Amino acid sequence: SYLSFRGRRALVTGAGKGIGRAVAVALSRAGARVTALSRTAADLESLTRECPGIETLCLDLADWEAVEAAVGAAGPFELLVNNAAVAELQPFLEVTRSALQRSLDVNFGAVLHVSQIVARQMIAQQVAGAIVNVSSQASKRALRDHAVYCSTKSALDMLSRVMAMELGPHKIRVNTVNPTVVMTDMGRINWSDPQKAAAMINRIPLGKFAEVDDVVNSILFLLSDKSAMTTGSSLMIDGGFLVS
Ligand code: NDP
Repeated sequence: SYLSFRGRRALVTGAGKGIGRAVAVALSRAGARVTALSRTAADLESLTRECPGIETLCLDLADWEAVEAAVGAAGPFELLVNNAAVAELQPFLEVTRSALQRSLDVNFGAVLHVSQIVARQMIAQQVAGAIVNVSSQASKRALRDHAVYCSTKSALDMLSRVMAMELGPHKIRVNTVNPTVVMTDMGRINWSDPQKAAAMINRIPLGKFAEVDDVVNSILFLLSDKSAMTTGSSLMIDGGFLVS
């Protein structure tokens, strides 16, 4: 195949469902040794049935100590995909402290923390590495009821740029992918209303939402040596939403 990850060790967060699960499967099929981290044990069990070579870590990314211990022991990795996130949509005037805290912890704090652990190991092992953070078109456009989600993704884009700057001298590349709506569980919960979906699709020049595979392909490209000179960038997978 076009991209091979034979022998590379990869950590994928939020790999129980949706985009993260598809990334874990694709990397495993492309020869990587994959560790899939997620929160629901049943999802990870079904993932290992689907793809027997994959190893799993079942934990909540908001639990700083548990992440430190488990990810530290599972490494080192050359490839990291920070994919896990939550999307609790609330009108700005009704944003709750718990939704804010949870979203900051998972969408932003956990990316910083997991990346620290993995990057320290990359540097100690003197291996070149690639990190892809799964952001969103929502990092670059205001969306109704997305005050917290948009803000965490915007912070994630900037975190990724600073990481790219500081980790570049260690031969570690850091990029984001920024998809439009994808009809995973997260997408279905927030975009199943046909009127709301139609209003979004009308603003997308290509006239459709993204497929899981569109996102997987871009992530694999940014993890691979085919993007060897690309770091600190955000790859839009938005059908042109941003330029419309
Ligand atoms: P899903 O909700 O379908 O899957 C998210 C996965 O992350 C689940 O396996 C979930 O586990 C896991 N996860 C969430 N919180 C934690 C946590 N605290 N600890 C460990 N695992 C956790 O989401 P998608 O696949 O749709 O989204 C993947 C990424 O893509 C996210 O970063 C999202 O923001 C981004 N994205 C999604 C879009 C969409 O429309 N779907 C559009 C643009 C970006 P569990 O279910 O057990 O909680």
